[in-house]
Amino acid sequence: MTNWNEMSDEDFAQAAASFVERACPAELRYLPHRPRWDKSSVWYIAMSREGWLAPGWPVEFGGMGLDPSKHLTYLEVFERLGTPMVAPQGVVNVGPALIGFGTDEQRQEFLPKILSGERRWAQGFSEPNAGSDLASVRTEAKPDGDEYVINGQKIWSTGALDANWMYALVRTDKSVRKQAGLSFVMFPMDQRGVTVRPIRTISGGEEFCEVFLDNVRAKAEHVVGGVNNGWKVANGLLGFERLWSGSAHQCKQALVRLKDVARIAGKMDDPSFRQRYTRLELDVLDLAACYTRSTRNLQVTRRVGFEASMLKIWATETCQRIGELMMEIGGDAALVQGGMEIDDRHLDALTPFLEARAPTIYGGTVQIHRNILAKNVLNLPT
Ligand SMILES: Cc1cc2nc3c(=O)[nH]c(=O)nc-3n(C[C@H](O)[C@H](O)[C@H](O)COP(=O)(O)OP(=O)(O)OC[C@H]3O[C@@H](n4cnc5c(N)ncnc54)[C@H](O)[C@@H]3O)c2cc1C
Repeated sequence: MTNWNEMSDEDFAQAAASFVERACPAELRYLPHRPRWDKSSVWYIAMSREGWLAPGWPVEFGGMGLDPSKHLTYLEVFERLGTPMVAPQGVVNVGPALIGFGTDEQRQEFLPKILSGERRWAQGFSEPNAGSDLASVRTEAKPDGDEYVINGQKIWSTGALDANWMYALVRTDKSVRKQAGLSFVMFPMDQRGVTVRPIRTISGGEEFCEVFLDNVRAKAEHVVGGVNNGWKVANGLLGFERLWSGSAHQCKQALVRLKDVARIAGKMDDPSFRQRYTRLELDVLDLAACYTRSTRNLQVTRRVGFEASMLKIWATETCQRIGELMMEIGGDAALVQGGMEIDDRHLDALTPFLEARAPTIYGGTVQIHRNILAKNVLNLPT
């Protein structure tokens, strides 16, 4: 087996780039939205087959076990070449949660099936009255022999149409403090009692869904981290999700798009545009540098710090600013969903603008992250 960490960063970057060029179909690259599983599974399976799927997982669990420097090189190459994120809930969220909090049996059962794509995941945290206030989750799980019976409703579950398993935060004890009565449980979605209803987004996609749970069954052995210990597991997982959404990934792709739109719109020599573009580019470079420092810290401390909140705000709001500039200069192409052909080139300035709305909401809204920084870093009264 290749020991990636023994390679120089340059050799590793070259190996990663040649893998992407060979294995990632051109039609999946630089997409403004996340592709559905039927289109993108080919890329997921290729990454899995050739061992490129889980850069941060330890080698013993089937990951690449990359050191911080190689991990960042991996992200940089995959971002630069416009690879899509496919079914990330498994590799980015539930996998690390199982590695951190799961039992040996859970790791043995689930991790290989996440890597193979056999089990694809939806996150069942939010509910109609429990979004920012996640501890108010009301979906209830009651013990029944060696199973739990779950009733309630989840909402905004990303990728639920393509998922066949859900990990969810459920209430297992109503008699204690809100946070203390929650459990983190996994269950198959292809069972009676699970109803998935897509919610159409502003950009026309059906990326997320409502999920209704009516006497749904989960095995007791599929509770992660112990009964009534779900708050700790969920927070560990959300830390990774926040750090992920604070990467410069989407901003960098949006900048490439902005430059394309500017070229087609004849704006590249406009001093006012160049000034605004340069400011954005510098902000993205600063963000990337801070992100690099945070991920290096993470590899040492194994703890996601409050800087994840700062990165999340910075990344998602910068992405929105890029989208707004694209709208301003996009002319007619900024009015048409899906874009239009101008001078034999396809120009789509509207989709990136619309797609940049959601990231300031998921993984905790930017207002909630400002509260976190105000309280924990600035020591302001709340
Ligand atoms: C694209 C997308 C994908 C998502 N994917 C998933 C998923 O896969 N699984 C999942 O479980 N959830 C998912 N979510 C849900 C997401 O986590 C919630 O939308 C988010 O936590 C906000 O909750 P809410 O929508 O209930 O808004 P609310 O909590 O009702 O907030 C409404 C507004 O009030 C503000 N607000 C609320 N409380 C405070 C406060 N204390 N101080 C200041 N301002 C406050 C918020 O910032 C927001 O602007 C997704 C959301 C989006 C948009």
